[in-house]
Amino acid sequence: MTDMETALHLTLADAWAHRDTAPGQARSSAAAHLNSPAHAQASVILAYLDWREGRLPQATEGVTAAISTLRLGEPSVWLGRGLNILAALHSTLNRADRAVELYEQQVSLARHIQDAELTATALHDLAVELRHSDPLRARAHITEALGTFRQLNYAFGVAIAHANLAEFDRDDGDQPGAYRHVQQALRYPHLDQHPHLEASLLSTLLLILPAQGADRERRRTRQRLQQLRRHSDNPELRATVALALAQQASPAEISPLLTGALRDLRGLGDHILLPELHERLSQSYAAQDDHQRALTHLQETLAYTRRTHAAERRQNIQTFEVLSRIQALQDQAREERQRNSELQTHLQELRALNARIRELGRTDHLTRLANREHLFTEGHHLAQTATPHTPVSAALIDIDHFKQVNDTWGHQIGDLVLQRVARMLLDVTRPGDLAARYGGEEFVLLRAAPAGSLGTSCHDLQQLIRLHPWHEIAPDLRVTLSIGVAQITEPDFDQLVGLADRRLYRVKRDGRDNILQHD
Ligand code: GH3
Ligand code: MG
Ligand code: MG
Repeated sequence: MTDMETALHLTLADAWAHRDTAPGQARSSAAAHLNSPAHAQASVILAYLDWREGRLPQATEGVTAAISTLRLGEPSVWLGRGLNILAALHSTLNRADRAVELYEQQVSLARHIQDAELTATALHDLAVELRHSDPLRARAHITEALGTFRQLNYAFGVAIAHANLAEFDRDDGDQPGAYRHVQQALRYPHLDQHPHLEASLLSTLLLILPAQGADRERRRTRQRLQQLRRHSDNPELRATVALALAQQASPAEISPLLTGALRDLRGLGDHILLPELHERLSQSYAAQDDHQRALTHLQETLAYTRRTHAAERRQNIQTFEVLSRIQALQDQAREERQRNSELQTHLQELRALNARIRELGRTDHLTRLANREHLFTEGHHLAQTATPHTPVSAALIDIDHFKQVNDTWGHQIGDLVLQRVARMLLDVTRPGDLAARYGGEEFVLLRAAPAGSLGTSCHDLQQLIRLHPWHEIAPDLRVTLSIGVAQITEPDFDQLVGLADRRLYRVKRDGRDNILQHD
């Protein structure tokens, strides 16, 4: 890796590490990598930030593309992060089944690459997703995640897991259990750097403290919450704290507290805490018989709900569209791959069939040697190479008195003899030779070599014929061959065959069962 690549890599790792604490910086450094080889990793960071900032369609499109790219490479922590973001997006869109599936993919990927932190994070998020649908499994996963976070000394993970376990226990009506988890989470040493977490833990604490006998702790918790509110200029945090404090305040205290929170949130648009603030204010004004104000805040709640529903619907529809477009493309790609592989198979079958047909077209079906046509095609080609230095030779081989074989033992025995002779002819061939059935009971052996070489092979053939146990086919069966051998030193195949034929004729005339390779 070059220095520059290392620097790029570190910057992306840093951008990921600071995605929550310095999102602006994370975004600009990720954007700077969009044209680099690490663009998929950069897209993961950008998708995370888009998701956090509520731009769901962009986040979905970005992270899906990144996942496709990352899937091409080795399984990596970045692919795991991408899956996590896509899962969270599906969860936001109420597609819990898909979210669960993606978290499960993240878990198995994280286990495969043996990344303990990624595994625990995936298990944790999967547990939160399963909290209502499968509480038993959820609890098993979050407990495993907690154990891993502990082993890794990842204190923030430990705290978050306890915070969620507190909610699990509240679901089960187990207030003491919830209390213990909140206490554990509150032990997180850097809680001062995560005021949102602290505020939410203290809010839960106020809800679960027993009505009697916890006055001191309740007072301490309220004081700490008030402190958090005073020292923070984060409107969201101040509103969260205000809502928590309002839970156990008198109606007269509630109105200034929540009105202040409303003021804080003004300018942030349709913040998620607005409806609760309005609703609580409405309740508190109703309790004070100020029905005019109670009605105003109730109307605000309704208006908010209508607005955000419309916006949410719009955004969900857009995101759904992106998701279904991606799905359609993936389906199409799968079909195309399928079709391609079918086509590929057909093509291969066709090629094999073609080869077989060509092969059959060149072969004599009885002896499996080359047929006469092929012999002439190849013979003419080979003859083109004939020179005084590189002669080409042919042997014309004829079975003696073959007609008598047929006449005495029948055609079937005749065929068998033809097959045996062909087999033995093949046994004396050398690489590059062509052995062919010239016609009837005549064969040709062709070789790019001087006639002497072919003569030797023909002697071998006659030796094989002589030693062959013909009597096993028929007691008195005898087989001999007459052979004429010739060579050419210029490209003339017809001359070659003519010469060999003349010598064969002479062997026949002179009593058969012999080889002639000179005039
Ligand atoms: P010579 O020694 O002079 O060559 O005598 P021959 O009997 O071998 O020659 P001839 O040309 O008179 O007879 C060849 C015989 O080969 C005639 C034909 O019936 C037979 N024959 C040709 N093709 C086949 C075949 O495919 N199978 C069988 N069983 N016989 C065949
Ligand atoms: Mg003949
Ligand atoms: Mg013959």
